[in-house]
Amino acid sequence: MSTQVVTKSVTAVSGERSVAGTIQVACFSKEARLKRAAKTAAICLAIALVCVGIPGAHFVLVPSMLLITPLMVLRTYRVTSLIAEVNATCAACGGKLTSLTSKEIYPLYERCLSCQRENRISVAS
Ligand SMILES: [Zn+2]
Repeated sequence: MSTQVVTKSVTAVSGERSVAGTIQVACFSKEARLKRAAKTAAICLAIALVCVGIPGAHFVLVPSMLLITPLMVLRTYRVTSLIAEVNATCAACGGKLTSLTSKEIYPLYERCLSCQRENRISVAS
């Protein structure tokens, strides 16, 4: 099993109100992280290859992409988990919350698309 999806109980808080919900987190194994890093490398190198055909700009774009590639690969490899889905409602109005960030750093601060209030989402203990 390379990627495991874990469901965590969370609490969304807006002002005085709080609502329980769940959050699904994709946890990557070492093999999955290597696959994601290889995919990132392939994308960066493909962009560098496309930049070869741009007259003039290729003198800057190709070396830039070749320098950025190992940094992007390392950054992708270091990601061990990402938020896949948020199943929580806004504590203020009851509208569905959607996660705009994918990094699993708690507490999450998500703005409700219905009432524009900020909800603080933290893992329920
Ligand atoms: Zn709301």
